[in-house]
Amino acid sequence: MLEFSKLPGVGKRSAERFVFHLLKLSDDEIRSLAEAIGGLKSSIIICEICGNIDNRSPCAICADEKRDQKTLCVVEDVRDLYAMEKTGQYRGLYHILGGAISPLDGIGPEKLRIRQLVARVKNSEIKEVIVATSPNVPGDATSLYLHKLLKPSGICMSRIAFGLPVGSELQNADENTLVRALEGRRQME
Ligand code: ZN
Repeated sequence: MLEFSKLPGVGKRSAERFVFHLLKLSDDEIRSLAEAIGGLKSSIIICEICGNIDNRSPCAICADEKRDQKTLCVVEDVRDLYAMEKTGQYRGLYHILGGAISPLDGIGPEKLRIRQLVARVKNSEIKEVIVATSPNVPGDATSLYLHKLLKPSGICMSRIAFGLPVGSELQNADENTLVRALEGRRQME
């Protein structure tokens, strides 16, 4: 029971509910659940192209030729990618930075997947880079940094517009807000 209450958002009451539910399952069902949890880490691979988490590399998104190969959405975190995918409105590719620039936390550009981003933009048919970092201080700093770095190459860059309170995180936005933010993206000159 203690193990369940270590999960994010799971209090003692929820942990109890999990246990009572599990007690009702058959031995086979319990075993397959335990195997799935046990194999979780070994079956996860980080996509060498975009940084997404999948059971293969390139991930399903990078390998999908039906997606728009000319548009790249740059996000901080895998959870931001999931949030964007949930809208069902974005059909381009992604690049996950693995965080945002935050000197106070000791996170400089070299700690993020920015080098890979520059190489990727250079060696692909990408025409537009949509910067979808969060509308907070690290997200804005990252956006400015990427703009300075990529704009000289002549690529079209845009920053998603937010209907979100400043200082919030992208992954916490609801689907409608994200769709509006994507549609209202502004060109970065
Ligand atoms: Zn990928």
